[in-house]
Amino acid sequence: MPADCLFCRIVAGEIPADIVHRDDQVVAFRDIAPKAPTHVLVIPVEHVASAADLGAGHGPLLERMFAVAVERARADGVAETGYRLVTNVGDDAGQSVHHLHLHLLGGRKLDWPPG
Ligand code: 5GP
Ligand code: ZN
Repeated sequence: MPADCLFCRIVAGEIPADIVHRDDQVVAFRDIAPKAPTHVLVIPVEHVASAADLGAGHGPLLERMFAVAVERARADGVAETGYRLVTNVGDDAGQSVHHLHLHLLGGRKLDWPPG
């Protein structure tokens, strides 16, 4: 694990977070600066810098990340009204933490396309 990775430190319990799910592959926690009533980050326990660093062997991990996001959408009560799952890659997308994360956004009408 890169010692300076914020999300690895959250996984390790070194930085507190409002964790809503944890298993051996995936951790999910509420975003510190929520952009919607539900804003949860779903991340792999393994350090993967972004979607661009995924490989063929990551299939089961991706399935688990999406399943956790869908479960959380149901638990937060936004499954019926709809929600967005998005991952930013690189500077133009505004990726600020270089540890793969799915944003789960819901609970309000979301603009499309994103700004
Ligand atoms: P990105 O901009 O890389 O797609 O998303 C990173 C997200 O991490 C942002 O939405 C930001 O608010 C969130 N974030 C940054 N630092 C922390 C933190 O220390 N704790 C939590 N819970 N979220 C954070
Ligand atoms: Zn990391």
